Amino acid sequence: MKNIIKKSITTIIIMALALTLAMPVTAQAAKKKTPKISKTKVTMTITKKKTKPAVQLKVKNVSAKNVKWTTSNKKVATVSKNGKVVAKKKGNAVITVKVKGSKTLRCKVTVKDNRKPVTKPNPNPTPAPSPKPPVECEHNWVKKTVTKMVCECGEIFYDEDARTLHNRQFVLQGLGGHSFSTDEETYYECSKCHKTK
Ligand SMILES: [Zn+2]
Ligand SMILES: [Zn+2]
Repeated sequence: MKNIIKKSITTIIIMALALTLAMPVTAQAAKKKTPKISKTKVTMTITKKKTKPAVQLKVKNVSAKNVKWTTSNKKVATVSKNGKVVAKKKGNAVITVKVKGSKTLRCKVTVKDNRKPVTKPNPNPTPAPSPKPPVECEHNWVKKTVTKMVCECGEIFYDEDARTLHNRQFVLQGLGGHSFSTDEETYYECSKCHKTK
């Protein structure tokens, strides 16, 4: 009985030892097939003809379904789930590939733009001052009436206060007041330039 247990333990130890020894071999074999990105540095140039240059990235030694692509800057470069990188605008971005059960790989992307900067047309161009010819008023004559006070002495007043003042000076002198008659006087006034006729 004791011997059987002893033998079993020995077997386990041997088996464990064998596994340990086998490990580095397996690791070494795996190392040969380390996932590798096809490019670690990419430069793309946007031109007038090619506004969206693209680069196809790949990861070797790994099934495509086990990688996940991401970009650090979507505005500069996007990456599809298949590793296609498309340049968007001038700048830098890092494309990261997460490999299932392995290390993360990266590809530095530089996007250049050799298009000439577009000069935006001024949306509000200041209009050239056009010489304005003096505009002749197209008179719009409006009929107006005013009360005219005609004094017996011949003076004409349009203002009640002025007529009263005129009358008072004769009263104070004891000469007796001037009588007056009123009359409606019509005239025309332009509603635009206020010229009268
Ligand atoms: Zn007028
Ligand atoms: Zn008078």
